[in-house]
Amino acid sequence: MRTKIVAGNWKMHKNAEETEDLLNDLIDKLPNDVEARIIVAPTFTNLSSAVEHLQFTNIGVAAQNMHQAEAGAFTGEISANMLKSIGVDIVILGHSERRAYFHETDALLAEKVNTALKHEMEVIFCFGEELKERQSQQHFNVVENQLKDALFHLEKNAWKNIILAYEPVWAIGTGETASPEQAQEMHQFIRRTIETKFGREIADEVSILYGGSVKPENAKEIFSQPDVDGGLIGGAALKATDFAAIVEGLA
Ligand code: PEP
Repeated sequence: MRTKIVAGNWKMHKNAEETEDLLNDLIDKLPNDVEARIIVAPTFTNLSSAVEHLQFTNIGVAAQNMHQAEAGAFTGEISANMLKSIGVDIVILGHSERRAYFHETDALLAEKVNTALKHEMEVIFCFGEELKERQSQQHFNVVENQLKDALFHLEKNAWKNIILAYEPVWAIGTGETASPEQAQEMHQFIRRTIETKFGREIADEVSILYGGSVKPENAKEIFSQPDVDGGLIGGAALKATDFAAIVEGLA
């Protein structure tokens, strides 16, 4: 059985005190009876306190990014070793905002994935097409190439530490959501692409999350699609009631 996952990407929101407040609120409000992994990704400065705060809960903590090098003269950057040293062993890589504003390419992301895996971290790998690519019917090609360029070099046994997050760029932070049918169509395509390269077992086991304006009102319908194994949530992850209601959508 594939693991169901709901992950919240807090982006550059919440200072130290606000982070504690939101974590307390989540501890109060998240349902206990939904079988799913819950992960939150606060900003770098609050990762350490989040790990400490959540140590007796089943909520995991992820970083939103990481540098590919082990260490060195990379001012402002954070290494895998630094994350591991504070108890963070999950990292989001390839978010569309990193791709768009920080020019991250799939070749670079392949390096980051390698470094994360070398440090026995789990990777939530984000990818997805832009609006113009969907409008010109290029979306399947784009997604296939992102997977090939960033992940097809992996050994089969690396896949136990990979979580995929399909996030159509046109649906992120826009209020525009892929329809459940569009999400299912793409998730099925992604699973088949993985199967072609790595075989049925790996394709069946990998969790594929959907991201892009998931809200309490649409979560259940999207999550009920057979190839959708949960969600990566942005805006709605910043309010505990909304995030908890989205998690309920997996029930
Ligand atoms: C995201 O940033 O990964 C995301 C899915 O954002 P939102 O839910 O706000 O569209």
